[in-house]
Amino acid sequence: MGKLIINDVDVSGKRVLMRVDYNVPMEESNGQMVINDATRINETLPTLRHLIDRGARVILMAHLGRPDGKPEASMSLRPVGIALSEMLGRSVQFAEDCIGEAVEKQVNSLQNGEVLLLENVRFYREEEANDLAFSEKLAQLGDVYVNDAFGAAHRAHASTVGVPAVIAKRGGKCAGGLLMERELKFLGDELENPARPFVVILGGAKVSDKIKVIDRLLEKADVILIGGAMAYTFKLADGVHVGKSLVEPDKTEVAKAAVSKAQQRGVTFLIPTDNLIADPVDTGRKNKKGRAIFDLQNPRINTARDIPELSEGVDIGPATAAAFAVEIAQAKTILWNGPMGIFEDPRFAEGTFAVAKAVVDATQNNGAKSIIGGGDSVKALNVAGLGGKVTFMSTGGGASLEFLEGKELPGVVVLGNS
Ligand code: AMP
Repeated sequence: MGKLIINDVDVSGKRVLMRVDYNVPMEESNGQMVINDATRINETLPTLRHLIDRGARVILMAHLGRPDGKPEASMSLRPVGIALSEMLGRSVQFAEDCIGEAVEKQVNSLQNGEVLLLENVRFYREEEANDLAFSEKLAQLGDVYVNDAFGAAHRAHASTVGVPAVIAKRGGKCAGGLLMERELKFLGDELENPARPFVVILGGAKVSDKIKVIDRLLEKADVILIGGAMAYTFKLADGVHVGKSLVEPDKTEVAKAAVSKAQQRGVTFLIPTDNLIADPVDTGRKNKKGRAIFDLQNPRINTARDIPELSEGVDIGPATAAAFAVEIAQAKTILWNGPMGIFEDPRFAEGTFAVAKAVVDATQNNGAKSIIGGGDSVKALNVAGLGGKVTFMSTGGGASLEFLEGKELPGVVVLGNS
């Protein structure tokens, strides 16, 4: 049984209270907050157009930043409303608050097809506390609840869980939006019975962040490719010297268990055979948190088993990238989460870009289904100019990971069933 999606809900003339993820990166410029990247707003347009075309009265609910439960001018959603209006090509009204009489008045004067954006729900401490009274006040604004904020669905807050619970209790429908539908389809259904070979590529900083994902995918994947700093914990578990590489020495047992599970299940499990390494040199400067800033000097390829004592691994090497590309070229389903190195520095981005290119080639040339599990891999694909050339890029970070771990997301559980 799937989740109820807006396609199956009659929204005409109804007040549709919709949770969206408009937590966009912003920057102050000449005393004004300017949006740096409007992708998250863009992603909601199909659902909004669907609702508008069907004569819904749309009330949008979102959070921005971490205002600590009180109004904070730099975290107002007003600039988001202006951007949304431009992107939609129609006027979007803005409410100075998200609850209260004035807001209710504004909501009740909406005409069919009109859109109103509420002010940041996190201006109230009650949002993150999932407070019942606050949820009831918000729920008063809608007849139907829609959640199109996959990226916030792992949090049990008022706008993601409390409000739909109140609306469902009084008999109102609670449905996923079209973006939510796509996220559940690609990160859920498509990976449940993947076309084989199913190749999983995992990278990023820590084994501890992704071990549950590794564990679950070991049950499903044919091939698992490990890159990023995470790989050094696997190497350490194998008795390899990793120098100054980012590692989690207390996770070597976990890494060993994953490797042995892979062997038992016949899963091909590859870690890098060569690495790009560099020497961290203290610059004498400190970052905002007071930590020493290191400059990574003298990048070079290391093909030896051990990494020199004073060096650190910063990317996979070319032989590893080529070996990974061979596996990726044979895939019919690909899931990728996490960069292969410190890709934010162009000197250390080659391995990540090589994997990105292999994933795109497999998608375009072999008809492989490629699913990018959110966060930094999406960023890396975009930096490589390859965004949009894969089958699906998740909009979630933490939510995608939790979903891939097999956890039920509270903001999804609370939606009605189809
Ligand atoms: P995650 O959020 O776990 O996917 O981790 C992403 C971060 O891992 C990025 O900021 C990368 O710079 C970082 N990362 C990847 N490889 C390495 C590495 N070899 N050493 C240090 N950090 C890395």
